[in-house]
Amino acid sequence: MNFELSEELKMLREMTYKFAVAEFTPHIRECDEHETYTPEIRKKAAENGLVGAWIPEQYGGSGAGFLGNAIITEELSRVDMGIGLNVIAAPFGCEAIFQNGTEEQKQKYLPPVCKGDWVAAGAYTEPNAGTDVAGYKTRAVRDGNDFVINGNKMFITNGTVCDFMVVQAITKPEEKKHNSFSMIIVDAKAKGITRNKIKGKMGIRASDTSEIAFEDVRVPQANLLGKEGRGFYQLMHFFDTTRSMIAAQALGLSIACLDASVKYCKERTAFGAPLGSYQLTQKKLAEMAIQIEALRTLTYRAAWTFDIGKPDYTLSAMAKFLGGQTAVFCANYAVELHGGYGYIDEYVVQKYYRDAKILELYEGTKEAEIMTIGRVLQSK
Ligand SMILES: Cc1cc2nc3c(=O)[nH]c(=O)nc-3n(C[C@H](O)[C@H](O)[C@H](O)COP(=O)(O)OP(=O)(O)OC[C@H]3O[C@@H](n4cnc5c(N)ncnc54)[C@H](O)[C@@H]3O)c2cc1C
Repeated sequence: MNFELSEELKMLREMTYKFAVAEFTPHIRECDEHETYTPEIRKKAAENGLVGAWIPEQYGGSGAGFLGNAIITEELSRVDMGIGLNVIAAPFGCEAIFQNGTEEQKQKYLPPVCKGDWVAAGAYTEPNAGTDVAGYKTRAVRDGNDFVINGNKMFITNGTVCDFMVVQAITKPEEKKHNSFSMIIVDAKAKGITRNKIKGKMGIRASDTSEIAFEDVRVPQANLLGKEGRGFYQLMHFFDTTRSMIAAQALGLSIACLDASVKYCKERTAFGAPLGSYQLTQKKLAEMAIQIEALRTLTYRAAWTFDIGKPDYTLSAMAKFLGGQTAVFCANYAVELHGGYGYIDEYVVQKYYRDAKILELYEGTKEAEIMTIGRVLQSK
């Protein structure tokens, strides 16, 4: 077993971090305060091969694999999770196209996203059903050569900035719940689509999150992804791949919390000595470091299983769960170690605290991950 990263991956890490420091840093505060999306940064990131890096070169990606993509995600999130999400989630939904699409669909949609010209979205969650994936109500009815889509989607990342989205809809209502869904690629500018940005998020405020309404939206039947009626299972497989990305976001944010805390504990004195000289303080820093190392190993291993063609879905769920827990844990300690200064916006840790919570909510809540892991254990 070799835990050493290849020279290529080490260079990728260094290049990504430098890119994020140079390009993100001047905009972090502005984007957080005004909820500003960052298309120019996304384009520059694409020029550097950082968008859709997991996508093979034949479809325009840089072919860095899922481990490479995890490292990119980690480094971008270390600098800013919101702006980082605008880069790494630009291909969100493309996982489903890559896994289920025809050669023509892959050639049409993946290269423009990797190039930074197009943005994708994965539109699954609905106002009345998130965790309950089989409870979605959006309908797509066949009419001539088209599907006609009606329904509502909620909390869609890139919703108002995307060029196309992968939508989960019921196409076979006569079938049992799990066999009634299909995935369909929808042009974001199609007639009948209304997109509204959701404002006032707690964290990752540079990311675009939207609600989307479909009213008699016509989409060619050729936009069906894979086999009709397999949408539920396709979505489960989609989550399996994207969850290691969320774990990598959590890893980056947790490292940022630890770095900021170590620095502050060296600088700040109390009772005549640096905070870092006290064992109670060191305990907090040590606990953060231990959690981070455990998360790093689990995240890299989960991503690597996809690269070797032996995906371990339970590991992805575990990494995502541990990621959320670790980020919230580290952000909490980071604020505590900064005392009152951790509570004001002069110090970045208050932002880390706000950004961290989403990692326990999206791409499956922490309870959803536990349910997934529990189901697997029961089936053995
Ligand atoms: C910023 C942001 C970005 C997002 N991006 C996207 C996106 O791009 N695409 C997309 O489709 N969705 C997206 N989501 C949606 C996200 O995935 C959902 O919010 C999440 O899955 C939870 O669904 P819900 O909000 O409907 O909560 P609910 O499903 O209503 O859950 C509420 C609570 O009940 C718990 N719960 C539910 N069922 C059970 C059960 N059986 N047992 C125990 N506890 C249970 C949940 O864990 C949670 O704690 C995003 C959300 C946010 C906030």
